[in-house]
Formats: sequence, structure tokens, C-alpha cells
Amino acid sequence: VIQHGQGEHAVSTTCAYCGVGCSFRAEMQGETVVRMVPEKTGGANAGHSCVKGRFAFGYATHPDRVTTPMIRESIDEPWRETTWEEAIAFAADRFTAIQAAHGPHTIGGITSSRCTNEEVFVVQKMIRAAFGTNNVDTCARVCHAPTGYGLKQTFGTSAGTQDFQSVEHADVILLIGANPTDGHPVFGSRMKQRLRAGATLIVADPRRIDLVRTPHVQAAHHLALRPGSNVALINAMAHVVMTEGLEDRAFIAERCDPDSFAEWAAFIRQPQNAPEALEGLIGVPAADIRAAARLYATGGNGAIYYGLGVTEHSQGSTMVMGLANLAMATGNIGRRGVGVNPLRGQNNVQGSCDMGSFPHEFSGYRSVTDDTVRATFEAAWGAALQTEPGLRLPNMLDAAVAGTFKGLFIQGEDIAQSDPNTRHVTAALRAMDCVVVMDLFQNETAAYAHVFLPGTSFLEKDGTFTNAERRINRVRPAMRPKTGTHEWQAVCDLATAMGHPMAYDDPSQIMDEIAALTPTFAGVSFDRLDRLGSVQWPCNDAAPEGTPIMHADGFVRGQGRFMVTDFVATEERTTRAFPLILTTGRILSQYNVGAQTRRTANVTWHAEDRLEIHPHDAEVRGIAEGDRVSLASRMGATSLRATLTERVPPGVVYTTFHHPITGANVVTTDRGDWATDCPEYKVTAVQVTLANAP
Ligand code: SF4
Repeated sequence: VIQHGQGEHAVSTTCAYCGVGCSFRAEMQGETVVRMVPEKTGGANAGHSCVKGRFAFGYATHPDRVTTPMIRESIDEPWRETTWEEAIAFAADRFTAIQAAHGPHTIGGITSSRCTNEEVFVVQKMIRAAFGTNNVDTCARVCHAPTGYGLKQTFGTSAGTQDFQSVEHADVILLIGANPTDGHPVFGSRMKQRLRAGATLIVADPRRIDLVRTPHVQAAHHLALRPGSNVALINAMAHVVMTEGLEDRAFIAERCDPDSFAEWAAFIRQPQNAPEALEGLIGVPAADIRAAARLYATGGNGAIYYGLGVTEHSQGSTMVMGLANLAMATGNIGRRGVGVNPLRGQNNVQGSCDMGSFPHEFSGYRSVTDDTVRATFEAAWGAALQTEPGLRLPNMLDAAVAGTFKGLFIQGEDIAQSDPNTRHVTAALRAMDCVVVMDLFQNETAAYAHVFLPGTSFLEKDGTFTNAERRINRVRPAMRPKTGTHEWQAVCDLATAMGHPMAYDDPSQIMDEIAALTPTFAGVSFDRLDRLGSVQWPCNDAAPEGTPIMHADGFVRGQGRFMVTDFVATEERTTRAFPLILTTGRILSQYNVGAQTRRTANVTWHAEDRLEIHPHDAEVRGIAEGDRVSLASRMGATSLRATLTERVPPGVVYTTFHHPITGANVVTTDRGDWATDCPEYKVTAVQVTLANAP
């Protein structure tokens, strides 16, 4: 905190929107933010920012903020404001009663990727130690869980391989299923700079994103693949590499597991994986696939960047492994300018995963079934912990509908708007005996809650966020909690009220506990972060200043493992009734379900979700620009206005999911990734008609 005098001071902190994790200086007049200034010393942003980080902070003081705890006996009753003590006791009594009547596995919780590492850590600790179950999950379930699975299988750890700066050394960028100029704007600008300076770009995306053609940047190839054909495309590219002798034999021999390579090579060389065999399915000419594969393999440093267009599919995990296979086969891993880099969505989705928010893993991605690891946590926490993995969020919701799951603690997530198949989600919430929501606003999910615990904005938090490049940044409080207490404190109070005492004087003590229990965080402390600005994990005795590039000398798992990636078509099929494919995404000025961005001055920009539809598909339906249309799938229907554009190809429509009025996830399918249950948001068969048309 820098004092300027006369009530003015500045606080160095971190943006709470996307996974780029830009550093800012909050310039304050008393407890009022005067402006947010991007920090030139910021490890992720070096003085740059986007419109959200710079201007969209007004939600922190918006009148919609709930600042007093509320309870009610049933969701049909009005809320009653109460004290923190009564709200905590009410929630503890309900959870304890369910535990006693039905057992610990009938309750659980989800952590928030918007919260700090310290806040997330105490929630998963409460669920494991006080609830007595491993039923803990996080919003990564619906976004990058396949990244966690795929990169752990192939490389040995669930994280991107490079720092952002690495892109400045890339010669060829393969950008697949990501739209960084909207989703990760500051990194998108950095990528654009590198492209202007001469790197070559391959875009694989059904939609013509900005980077395909923008001033001074033109992609060498835009592979406008059909939604759902990712794995076929990556297999076809790998086939070209392996049948044209473009592989890096020295890298493979030195760094990779020979048996897995032999099995994968035999698979990928099969004629069924040739571009000519798959071009009809993928919807991209074989010659273009061949040219793109040759360019990636022979164009110098090849860097892969990807987003939810890779993960949110029934084969999301397979696709992540396919990208890892391609990078290993071409030796594009372990140095600057290369790598496999997930562009993670929320500000702390990397951190929420690192902190042990999965039902099968403690912090640092260590299995709950490992007796040695579990014993370490049991000794530290003074609790007997469950030996088997718990339920994932979709399984908790299914069990709730079936009547065998009774209570859920929800930290900073609006699953009634963000998760697929809204009707199923709300039916599950409605069926439970105790739903506790901790959030800034009365969101859609709160309509089904019995306890509302008001949360704090990033301007009130003290802790850390971890961005998409594993960079742990400090978040420092610019104002006191408007709720009268800290989220970590309320969670500790709830755990204590349920019979498992949890107490800390300060969030730095929570980080000290994380460091003591998590080998990849062993060297992390608030003191070190304050001294260095930020560090990228692993940060420990072997790497006291952190690790910008992973797998430099060897893979975390030892040898890199190739995985066979059979293409299996999604079961979501178009029919006469639902002839189009819907895919979803984000725009620059809004953020996810819009809880924050809709409550800032930018509310007038992109004030509604629009449906992008190709002019040909619009014409045959009699739809003109701006018409209100009905969007229907097997799951449900909504309506919104149409934008006619050739950004989407014929047969594909696209929308955002920022506005609850549209509620795009009423329509999306809840089919999931085979390995992780991550929903297939990117492929839903739909019909579009003029609203109110017969
Ligand atoms: Fe915030 Fe992301 Fe924009 Fe940076 S790029 S200012 S982290 S929203």
C-alpha cells in the first residue's frame, strides 16, 4: 500500500476477471476506487490491460451487493436478514442433521474460481474434514477439467507448459478453439504483436475469429472444422507428421516413453487417419490440413494455444492428449516459443484446481487414495479423511434429483445459469434440504438457497490468484469487507460449528499451510511474493524463484507418454428437427454469466446475447438482421435477436451466455467428456425459427 496523503493511497493487486491475471494499481480516495492503473511491473501484463480490468470494477460497490447474511426455512419463503452467527449456526445445523440422518456422502460443495487460493483451500478443507466427504468440485468441471486429465496423462501435471512471454519466441502458432482477443485480451494483444513481427498463424475454429484476419495479421490457414471433429483434425495432422517423416526422432528417443510412442505411431499411421479419409467429416480440404501440419512441424518453434473449443466436447480429454502427442512428436516442448498452453478462463481457475478442489485429488494434484499423501493431510488437519474419491458436480446434481444427495455449499458460482441443461440443475437444487450460496449478488442459483452468505469482491480480498501460466499473484485489499467479515473466516466458522475447528489469524497463514502440504507450492509465501512480485509454480527448493517453462529437462512424469486418440463421434446429432449446430463463446466487454460486468458502466455495450447465423441459413428461414428468433434444442428453448454474418459457416450458429434473460444454457446439452464429465457446450443440435412463427 502506497500512501499519497489526504486520504489518497494506492494498492497493488490483481484483476479478478480472466486467467491472464493482469497486475493493477488501485488508486483510492479513502475506500473509493478513483482508477485502476495497469502495473508496468506486472509479470503477466507489463503495463497493459483490457477494458474489463481497467473500467469494470464498479460492481464492487453496486447497490445489488448483498452485505448481510440471510436465511429461510424453505425456498418458497422470503429471505430473512440475520447475523453472521445465526446464519452460520443455521447452515451448520442443517448440514449436521443431513450428515446424521443420511451419512456424510449426501452433502458436498463446490469451490469458486473467482476466489483466492486461500479461500478455495479452506472450503475444500472444510468439505473433506468437517463434512467428512470428498464430494468437492469446482467450475473447472465445466471448462478445463479435460486439460487437467489430458496433460497429466501425457506430461505428468495438470498445467500449461509456458509463461506468456514465451509466445514472443514462437515461429508458428497453432491456435485452436480459443479466441484470445475477446477471451484473454491482454495475451491476445501479445500474440498479435508476435504475429505482426513475423510469426505464422494457423487457426482451427468453426468460426472466423478476429485473428483470422485483422489489420497486419492474416492467418496462413483457417481450418474451419465442423464442431465435434477436433480429434479427427488433430489425428489427421499427426498422421501427416508421422507419414511424411516430419517427426523429431531425437526428441522422441531422448524424452519419451518408447512403448507408448510405438503404439501411438502404429495407430496414427493407419490410413483411416489420413486427411483424405477424414476431410469430409472435418469439413476442411485434405490439402489444407496437410499444409497446416507441415507448417507446424517444420516452421521453427511451434506453439499450441487452446481454449474451451478444445475441452468442452465429449472427447475434450482425448483432444488435449492429441495436442500433447503432436507437440511431443515434433519436439515442440520444454523450451521458449513452443509448448501446449491452455488459455484458462477465470482469474483463478488454475488456482482452484491446484488447491485440491477435485473429488479425487488433494492440493497439488495428489490422489486421495494415496495412503502416504492422505496421512500427511490427516496429521496436519487432525481428521480422518475419506479414502475414496467423492462425487463430481454433475453426479451430485444427478443424485440430488434421485433423492440421494441433500446439501450443497456453493462458493461464488451461479450454476443455475452457467451449467448446462438448466432445467436439470434447478430440479437438483430444488430437491435439496440445504443449499448455501456464498456470493456477491442474489444470483439465479440463490433462488434455490436456504442460506445466503454475502461474499467479498477482489477489492476486499487478501490472498493470491494463480493465472493461466501458473503465476501466483498477490491480491491485496483496497477496502474493508462490506459484509463485515472475510470469506475465509466465515468458512472457518462454519467448519468449526460443524465440529472441526479451523482458525487462522491471517490469510498468509493459510498460504503457509498450503506450502507445507503441497510440494509444488513449498517455496510460496506472502513474503516471497511481496519480494519477487509473483512466482510461477513449481516453486520450491529446486526452483526458489519459480518455473516459467515446464518439462525443460524432463517431463514431470519422467518420460512423455503418447496416448492413442481414437476419434469417436459425439452422440449429439443433427436431425430434420434440429438441423443446425449451436456453439457458444464470450465477447470482450462481458464476462461469463455477467454477474459483474452487467453491474458496471459498460452495461450498455453488448447489452444482449445475439445469435450469429449465416445469411444462407437465415434466408431459408425468412430471418432478417435483428429479428427475434427462437432457439430450440432437445433440452429447451429460448429467444434472442439474430445477427446475420459469415463469421459462422452454414450449418453452425453461435451465441454468448452472458445474460440470464437469454439463458443460453437452457438450450445446451449436458452430454459430457468421457473422462471428466466436462459438458459438451460446443456442440448442441438446434433449430432456429422466427420467434412466434407458426
Ligand atoms: Fe483483466 Fe484479463 Fe483484461 Fe487482464 S486481460 S485486464 S486479467 S480481464
